[in-house]
Amino acid sequence: MQQDGSPQSEMASEAHLRQLKATFEQLPNKIELFLFTTKGQDDVFAQANRQVIRAFRELGARITIREYGLDHELAQKWNVTHSPTLLIAPEHYSIRWLGAPMGEEARTFLETLILVGSGKSNLSDQSVKVIKKIDSQRNIKVFVSPTCPYCPQEAVNAVKAAVEMPDTISLEIVDIQSEPELATQYSAQSVPQAYANDVLIGQGAQTEEVFILSLLKLEPQSIFIPDSDAELVDADLVIIGGGPAGLTAGIYAVRSGIKTAVVEREALGGQVATTPVVENYPGFTSVGGKTLVDILVSHALEYVQIFQGEAVVDLQPGNPHNVVTSRRKFNAKAVLLATGATHRSLDVPGESRLSGRGVSYCSTCDGPLFKGKKVVMVGGGNSAVTEALHLFNMGVDVTLIHRREKLRAQKFLVQQLSDNNISVLWDTEIQEIRGEERVEEILLGNRKTGEKFAFKTDGVFIAIGYVPAVELARKVGVAINENGYIQHDDKHRTNIPGVYCAGDVQGGYKQIVTAAGQGAEAAMTIFEDLINPYWLKQGDG
Ligand code: NAP
Repeated sequence: MQQDGSPQSEMASEAHLRQLKATFEQLPNKIELFLFTTKGQDDVFAQANRQVIRAFRELGARITIREYGLDHELAQKWNVTHSPTLLIAPEHYSIRWLGAPMGEEARTFLETLILVGSGKSNLSDQSVKVIKKIDSQRNIKVFVSPTCPYCPQEAVNAVKAAVEMPDTISLEIVDIQSEPELATQYSAQSVPQAYANDVLIGQGAQTEEVFILSLLKLEPQSIFIPDSDAELVDADLVIIGGGPAGLTAGIYAVRSGIKTAVVEREALGGQVATTPVVENYPGFTSVGGKTLVDILVSHALEYVQIFQGEAVVDLQPGNPHNVVTSRRKFNAKAVLLATGATHRSLDVPGESRLSGRGVSYCSTCDGPLFKGKKVVMVGGGNSAVTEALHLFNMGVDVTLIHRREKLRAQKFLVQQLSDNNISVLWDTEIQEIRGEERVEEILLGNRKTGEKFAFKTDGVFIAIGYVPAVELARKVGVAINENGYIQHDDKHRTNIPGVYCAGDVQGGYKQIVTAAGQGAEAAMTIFEDLINPYWLKQGDG
């Protein structure tokens, strides 16, 4: 959580630190950290690693640190060949970090220390049932980057697995910035990516249960159906989606006295979490998308319980509504669909095959891999221009490709593009993405002249808008309008009594501030409807 320097925020961070120290004091196990570096060649990652682990050591005497060269006998004993490598409690677990647990990865590191210190994996009962079926060695590698808000979820899944079955499961968390050759060897050009026994088992953040199932089957799984003995939770309102709409609705609902739960399968904050910079959210002249999410999440946590990393696998409308996640079942009087939107694909040959192999939809996550390299950014809206500027600022050679002769992005952003001399290919569309193991070139077509030409590039970043995430709504019979968004009235009510919507999934302006506003409105409607249910009035005639 970023601090804004105010007395309140400093008090909050001191209270947080005290709480963490108390947690570490209660841990039963010692946490021995062994850092291996190349003697005399102190690189920036070794320094960063040292700095981070020393800062964490302040949390309590349970944490000890020792540092050795790669030529030390312990390096041979534990087969350490890369600098820096951090081994965590190597006498008990096989968990190592290649690079430094910086940025977003500090969250993974903290969770790892707590799990190792407690000696418990914290896997859900559902996951434990699955992992116990693994009967042969699994060597996991998870590729991460410090700027990727999705990465901790996937990395922590793997840590839990390694803590649950220390004799069977080994783990390497690989920071792609520190180990670009290893990332290239695995063709891991997006993060997070998880491999087990050198087989890809997950691309993007998976829920814990889906990760464990993928680890068992040694291939990526997309869904996990829980056993029927899942825990039952009663709530007045279940909000599906933890972006600005869902979190704001959570704050408003609980403040009205409604017992509420927010369920989010991926990173909290939705698209905002990967927006490099936000310059139009009132109260902030300029704020990193992830920083804004951290502020919003910590505000929401003051009120509402958030079930993060849980996918809703089923929803049965009724009285009560039944919401089934990968871990539990909720009985709810009302449900708010705030499922947001997912990125739109180009739908050209090569795109899905090379996704994660140079094709990316997240410049914040994957941009660092392309520093000093040549990429294209596709799109003409605010997202494409914001992200092109972000890539440019991190030292990537970026060319914008747009299918028209005019951008639809805000004037202020377009001006920055020309101020930085970022090249734009106008009236141009991508017809094919080519490459064997990873992106090598693209086939372009000029829409005015009809000319076709190949363009060499290391990466293709795609930001061509979003499609509303309506699969769940559609599945349960919520009406969808002709543009593909959830049909709703001006109170955010859908056609199913007691089921509401807010944010990008309902269409209209897709701004953070409008999503938050819709979340607040929906929560206030739900409060009124629960006191005075319109569906009962209708039903009773
Ligand atoms: P967008 O505004 O819908 O723009 C999508 C862009 O992609 C358009 O330029 C469109 O071209 C192009 N496109 C669509 N399909 C394409 C295809 N198949 N091939 C090639 N190009 C294609 O999407 P966005 O930029 O992601 O923004 C989404 C929403 O979030 C917008 O409401 C935006 O204002 C908001 N947003 C705001 C900010 C901010 O305020 N700072 C930042 C990011 C996003 P055409 O122009 O030809 O249609």
